[in-house]
Amino acid sequence: MPEYDALQKQLEGRLTQLLRRVGKIEGDLRQMHDRDWTERGTELENDEVLEGLDEMTLREIEQIRTALKRIENGGYGTCAACGRAIGTERLIAVPSAITCVACAR
Ligand SMILES: [Zn+2]
Repeated sequence: MPEYDALQKQLEGRLTQLLRRVGKIEGDLRQMHDRDWTERGTELENDEVLEGLDEMTLREIEQIRTALKRIENGGYGTCAACGRAIGTERLIAVPSAITCVACAR
């Protein structure tokens, strides 16, 4: 689907960026776990924040992978829920969107 070339590049770039971030977060978490147990109390909060961030990032990675698969196999630009066109405007704003505005709500 040549018309989605630009969006595909954008998604791939974002995916690389996210994967790099996940690698860094996981490194940070491992570092914390290696430290003394006496420090754990104050670090627990940080840990939870990092893990929450990680989850969000992983979810976005999953979304981008799904969108990229739909670009490859067809179906990209069509709502996964109702089958209507998602609309170029929404795709440009949210390239990883696989549902239309109405279904995303
Ligand atoms: Zn829809």
